[in-house]
Amino acid sequence: MRIPLVLGNWKMNGNGESGAVLLSALLKSDLPFDQVACGVAVPFVYLATLGEKLSGTKIAIGAQDVSNKVEGAFTGEVSASMLKDIGASFTLIGHSERRTYHLESDSQILEKTKQALSVGLKPVVCVGETLAEFEEDKTETVLKQQLSKLCSELSVKEWESVTIAYEPVWAIGTGKVASPEYAQKVHSFIRNMIATVDKTIANQTKILYGGSVKAENAAQLRAMPDIDGALVGGASLVAEQFAGICRNF
Ligand code: PEP
Repeated sequence: MRIPLVLGNWKMNGNGESGAVLLSALLKSDLPFDQVACGVAVPFVYLATLGEKLSGTKIAIGAQDVSNKVEGAFTGEVSASMLKDIGASFTLIGHSERRTYHLESDSQILEKTKQALSVGLKPVVCVGETLAEFEEDKTETVLKQQLSKLCSELSVKEWESVTIAYEPVWAIGTGKVASPEYAQKVHSFIRNMIATVDKTIANQTKILYGGSVKAENAAQLRAMPDIDGALVGGASLVAEQFAGICRNF
């Protein structure tokens, strides 16, 4: 039984004050935590203060990225142990915006995942095809490429802490959500890939869908057997929307 997980990705939006207001509203929205797990990935600089606000609550706090290095002369980087130290419980890794604007490779994404795992930070690894790849029917080829290092290099034990987020790039921030049937087909493909590592792990691993999820389309996505939750961008900045998505999952 995979309990649904809904994570918000605030990206580079808002400030300390608006973040605190958003969390206060979420904390008041009486989310059904016996049925859904929730978390927010906030900008690095607000992790400490917003983390304090969430301390003792059921809403997890996480980062949007992590360094692939342990420590040292890597200006601007934030290590997995620093994130753990400050109270983050998870981190996004390999979001399409990191892959596109920072040219993150699958090898770096594997290194980041290993760094997170080494300190007990849960990695949420993002994968997904671009519009051109979708139109050329290359989704499975792309996903195979993006997931193959994780499948071959992570142990079964490590996989126990990994979450995958399938985010078709053409659906991110565009208002064009993938159809539940299409997303299900891709999620099933991903689960079958994980099954090459271990069948039990494949059944346990949460595979989130991301890309224009709203309170209005969450229930249809949730109805699909291999969709275990959502990674939410824009709608996670509006408390009512995010709470609605959590409820509908
Ligand atoms: C995202 O960037 O992870 C995302 C899914 O964005 P949106 O929900 O805005 O499409």
